[in-house]
Amino acid sequence: CVETTTCPQASCNELVTEVEMEASLKSGATPSTQARTDKLLQKYSTYQLRSFVESNRLTRWCPGKGCEFVACASSQACLETIQDRTTQCHSCTTAFCVVCGEEPHAPCACKDVTRWKDKCRNESETANWILANTKSCPKCVSRIEKNQGCNHMTCGRCKHEFCWICMGDWNNHGANTGGYYKCNKFDSKTGGGVEDQSEAARAKRELDRYLHYYKRYHAHDEAEKFARKQLQETEARMVILQESSSNSKWADVEFLKAANEQLVECRHVLKYTYVYAYYFGASPSMQKERFEYHQEMLERFTETLSELSEKPVAAMDRTEVVNTTRVVDRFMRNILKYVEEGMEEA
Ligand SMILES: [Zn+2]
Ligand SMILES: [Zn+2]
Ligand SMILES: [Zn+2]
Ligand SMILES: [Zn+2]
Ligand SMILES: [Zn+2]
Repeated sequence: CVETTTCPQASCNELVTEVEMEASLKSGATPSTQARTDKLLQKYSTYQLRSFVESNRLTRWCPGKGCEFVACASSQACLETIQDRTTQCHSCTTAFCVVCGEEPHAPCACKDVTRWKDKCRNESETANWILANTKSCPKCVSRIEKNQGCNHMTCGRCKHEFCWICMGDWNNHGANTGGYYKCNKFDSKTGGGVEDQSEAARAKRELDRYLHYYKRYHAHDEAEKFARKQLQETEARMVILQESSSNSKWADVEFLKAANEQLVECRHVLKYTYVYAYYFGASPSMQKERFEYHQEMLERFTETLSELSEKPVAAMDRTEVVNTTRVVDRFMRNILKYVEEGMEEA
């Protein structure tokens, strides 16, 4: 029940101040003051609209560049869950959170998004240094350029397969390979353990923990951008795919677009699952373990879908892509539902 309109007052019949103002101004007007009165009125109504939108918790200006539309929730109940708060502007198609004005951020709470963005600004120097220094093959140390969305990397020189995020062996990753190692989990034992209680050791551990989540947040952000770019090129690929088979209809190639849209959505959700996990805290709990399980499944299958959708058209397996899209969608809904229902298993 969140709408975007040009005038949030349309639905509000208690707001009579503007009409009263007009009447009082016009009562003393002469032809010579008419132009001034009109100007004043116009100014007043713009001002009033602004202050109405800015002071009302149920409304927010669309953050789209130069957009004059307003998002309007009909009641507080409409903004209860994080997913309900998300809206898309009818005019400029910008998607945003009505409560905080940021881009959609489920499953993460508004206050955590704000804290996270502040933290990232403060730590940007360290993070940039780390990100800039992890761009070579972990085996042969030759430089690696990433020009794909999926995080499964193969070194062009030594053919070593590894994970772009943790630089670990790919054998322990992916939906099909399995493995005990969990790329999404932060292991507090790496780098010294918790015995050292000195101030410096504690600060180092806290930084390591932040960087663990930041790296993954950043990687999914990059992958989302890649998927958006790929989505723009999808139509051209669909045409090629349709023409490659003589009796293929447009409906037969639409799975490619669906897969790509799914990828954009999942990368976006994955990105915010790492902000969520960061603020969930370091201490182990059953809920945390379950959350990380949901996250891991979504991540693994998203990487698989990423890889499948990037294949050349000739090597495309429709059934496999369709099935993986469905599986990924289910995992995405699962994790959002799990958080929304207070992390209690249904
Ligand atoms: Zn807009
Ligand atoms: Zn928000
Ligand atoms: Zn290599
Ligand atoms: Zn990894
Ligand atoms: Zn790949």
